[in-house]
Amino acid sequence: MSAQPAAVPHLEIDGVSKRFGETEVLRDVSITVPRGTFLALLGPSGCGKSTLLKIIAGLETQTGGHVRLDGEALDGMPAYRRDIGVVFQSYALFPHMSVKENVRFGLDMRRLDKAESAARVDEALELVKLGGYGSRMPSELSGGQQQRVAIARSLAIRPRLLLLDEPLSNLDAVLRKSVRVDIRELHDRVGTTTVMVTHDQEEAMSMADQVAVMAEGRVLQMGTPEAIYERPATRFVGGFVGSPP
Ligand code: ADP
Ligand code: MG
Repeated sequence: MSAQPAAVPHLEIDGVSKRFGETEVLRDVSITVPRGTFLALLGPSGCGKSTLLKIIAGLETQTGGHVRLDGEALDGMPAYRRDIGVVFQSYALFPHMSVKENVRFGLDMRRLDKAESAARVDEALELVKLGGYGSRMPSELSGGQQQRVAIARSLAIRPRLLLLDEPLSNLDAVLRKSVRVDIRELHDRVGTTTVMVTHDQEEAMSMADQVAVMAEGRVLQMGTPEAIYERPATRFVGGFVGSPP
């Protein structure tokens, strides 16, 4: 009898650890993410969420362990070759460039011809519903619109993975709820795999298919929002996601 080869996971974080000097920021983190999943990394400030996101993106190097995408080890591969889109909390748009130029920026080192570049910019702006805004300057847009430009910039590269670091934390409370829905719809429409960092349990529980609850550099529990809410693995997890006692 021949054994079936195990399916290769889409994103595999395998025993990743990270120290800054003496400080252990990530301790043996292992997470597997199937293609098309919306995963939230949820945990209190300082637990290592952003560091893990940067390691996946190639913007920080882990001390131990591996990150694989479709079975390919990303270790040592520079960020720009990973085809991973990243959106940080500070959208980091260039204030002196138009919306279109901002979105095109990520494409410039990809040697696409002009027509292909322009088509991708238009496509990405349509995806975030900013089709008519290409020639505006960032200062002429609301915070929510600027954030959508930042998302468009990461979508224009047609990323294998979309990473979002606290994407809602700079928005006012009223916008935050509608942008939650927008981001989730966008994920479904693009058909991407998304990893979103947040310290807000409501955000994680309402947006994600899978939630990984982190504390002090470890993953305490990973599962669907319902499973985590109904069967928290520890008292800390239950308290953090607001499960009934
Ligand atoms: P989170 O995103 O969950 O709030 P971070 O990943 O930003 O947490 O940080 C985790 C820990 O690592 C914190 O204690 C932070 O101070 C520390 N840290 C993050 N980046 C650096 C760095 N470049 N040098 C030293 N310590 C860092
Ligand atoms: Mg952070």
